[in-house]
Amino acid sequence: MQQINHFIGGQHTGASNRQGPVFNPALGEQTAQVSLASKAEVQQAVDAARAALPDWMETSPLNRARILFRFKMLLDERLDELARVISAEHGKVFEDARGEVIRGMEVVEFACGIPHLLKGEITEQVGRGVDAWSVNQPLGVVAGISPFNFPAMVPMWMWPVAIACGNTFVMKPSEKDPSAALLVADWLKEAGLPDGVMNVVNGDKEAVDELLVNPHVQAVSFVGSTPIAEYIYRTASEHGKRVQALGGAKNHLVVMPDADLDGAVNALMGAAYGSAGERCMAISVAVAVGDVADELVEKLAAKTRELKIGNGAEKGLDMGPLVSEAHLQKVTGYVDKGVAEGAQLVVDGRGLQVAGCENGYFIGGCLFDQVTADMTIYREEIFGPVLCVVRVPDYVSAVKLINAHEFGNGTSIYTRSGGVARQFVRDIQVGMVGVNVPIPVPMAFHAFGGWKRSLFGSNHVHGMEGVRFYTKRKAVTARWPEGDLGAEFVMPTLD
Ligand code: NAD
Repeated sequence: MQQINHFIGGQHTGASNRQGPVFNPALGEQTAQVSLASKAEVQQAVDAARAALPDWMETSPLNRARILFRFKMLLDERLDELARVISAEHGKVFEDARGEVIRGMEVVEFACGIPHLLKGEITEQVGRGVDAWSVNQPLGVVAGISPFNFPAMVPMWMWPVAIACGNTFVMKPSEKDPSAALLVADWLKEAGLPDGVMNVVNGDKEAVDELLVNPHVQAVSFVGSTPIAEYIYRTASEHGKRVQALGGAKNHLVVMPDADLDGAVNALMGAAYGSAGERCMAISVAVAVGDVADELVEKLAAKTRELKIGNGAEKGLDMGPLVSEAHLQKVTGYVDKGVAEGAQLVVDGRGLQVAGCENGYFIGGCLFDQVTADMTIYREEIFGPVLCVVRVPDYVSAVKLINAHEFGNGTSIYTRSGGVARQFVRDIQVGMVGVNVPIPVPMAFHAFGGWKRSLFGSNHVHGMEGVRFYTKRKAVTARWPEGDLGAEFVMPTLD
């Protein structure tokens, strides 16, 4: 059985005392065991990052960018290798895993522009013979904690910008699919990243808790479920750290009566069932406005029954299994609850068997109609291939429904009316909005983040928000006077 450990100070470590299982979800088999770092092992990683910091901060932004550029070239060549590793531990189909890596690579490409992005501001002559300027300096050692559903892309929302800004990094990936982060750390070393700038510790709550309280960690970036995001935000803030903690979601797609219905149906299929619904930007609620619902549900049902589901390592599939046996039970439990609470289960994917993968964690696409806002399947994040259709009479009711939900990560509207779309963009209380776009994930040079209980902290990730999160500003006022100016006892004012 494969043994997965940590990467500290440029070296792979030995095994920890505690171990966790890693599965191939399509086969339902354990394929590896992963070391779960102790508090002392996390401290070693933080110490390695501290030791690397002075030299890395002194390395010019241009030279830091050149290393990232070399890493990007390695990633280009090895995209399929990383995608296979992701697919084997997460379960998502290979092409989708490739897509994840490409979206993560975008952030590396953005961070390659760091000499430009780090530029400060200067005002000449703020007073006679006085100049003022601001510079952006790194924070120090920063940490990232990521979820299972994007084992390469979500860490890449964090570390490329952080290290480009001159910080050193400790990454704690999900213990469910730890291999991608380690592979990336190896390739960064190969690209010339000095030892200790990027460290990977695998683990669970014990490792996370040390990162939240360790006095040498200056900032924490977290992506995961809302209860844990809130805990991370509270605990790390209490310990004086800068925190951005992205949480869960319940994303709605509004289908207006004038929408291109086939376009909306295709959008819903990909956004609801792609990656088996295990995306924080997955659409899990279709809001059918006016009289559009009957035809919408009929078309969705036909396509949902035709989903091609199997081992993500094979070609030509729409979706793979869920990540774990426990998650399969959880998602199945939600479907049971939806039925019990009176929603109409139009397509039932429970109990799906895939030939050759009899022990895999599979569930077929599920489609509910007549879902109402008080039902558990509407209120809670299911994080599986379950699409709920809510019927509303008009646009105003659709907006009211979405704005009343506790989550505000992503949303989208399908309409042919520019006026309605524009109003929606203004009215909606959600961080990322699509117009005739199913999953409006912002590009790396914009920022990614939700509103309400989908994000705790003030900064979104990547883009200039990332640069601001991973740097602190220093404002300088300077003059070079000729001779002694004497003591000034009043509040200094410049003229
Ligand atoms: P999770 O919250 O269970 O785990 C995320 C990370 O937190 C993991 O590294 C895990 O080891 C750690 N963790 C888990 N329990 C902990 C605890 N009690 N104390 C300290 N650390 C703990 O999330 P997950 O199941 O891996 O991922 C799915 C969730 O992530 C979904 O809710 C999804 O919406 C969310 N997500 C959000 C975004 C976003 O951008 N908002 C992106 C991807 C995923």
